[in-house]
Amino acid sequence: MALNVVMLGPPGAGKGTQSERFARTHGLPKIATGDILREAVKAKTPMGLAAGAAMDAGELLGDDVMIGIVGDRLARPDTQAGFVLDGFPRTVTQASALDRIMHGRGPLVVIDIVVPEDVLLRRLAARRICGACGVNAPVEWISSCGVCGGPLVTRTDDSDGIVAGRLKVYHRETRPIVEFYSGRPTFRTIDGNLPPDVVTASMDAAVREASVVPGEARA
Ligand code: AMP
Repeated sequence: MALNVVMLGPPGAGKGTQSERFARTHGLPKIATGDILREAVKAKTPMGLAAGAAMDAGELLGDDVMIGIVGDRLARPDTQAGFVLDGFPRTVTQASALDRIMHGRGPLVVIDIVVPEDVLLRRLAARRICGACGVNAPVEWISSCGVCGGPLVTRTDDSDGIVAGRLKVYHRETRPIVEFYSGRPTFRTIDGNLPPDVVTASMDAAVREASVVPGEARA
């Protein structure tokens, strides 16, 4: 059965890091809508040109455009054995659309990473990404990217004035998705306020437990 994983959680919860690790160890594609959009902005595609200002302001893009992007991506054959979605869905409308896209493709395992707000604010203030390839920088990288050597920069939308707005948008638009999914047998909450390796292990255990159909052992 396919392993279809959705990561939920506020900005700074560790979705990017954990979905990257999970996707790598399980040989699945990681599909991060923020990364797709940042690439489009960098490449100055029509979508990127339209998206840049809203992203810099920490606002959400329209549901239709996001549902289109994810629908196209999930139609590609590399997602047949499963995927890890990071940053989508972000509204209940997107979550309903994802159910329609997934119809007949096996259940979604939904992992909600919970982190206290003061910790999120501290993490977002410290977060750096590579200005060239966009990868998230772990703390041991001091000033340049360990992958491509590019300069480490702060994401525009991680700046002081924008972060509070992004958290507000999260509570208003995205948090209701937890209610949308929480009654499903494949929904799990994990504690994201722990060392990254501990979170990785608990995510692994949560996905394994949530994706085992009663009476059927997963290899
Ligand atoms: P992220 O890297 O996931 O924090 O996304 C960066 C920005 O991209 C967000 O603040 C939004 O402006 C936009 N974005 C990413 N995913 C979505 C989505 N599912 N719906 C609407 N906007 C999105």
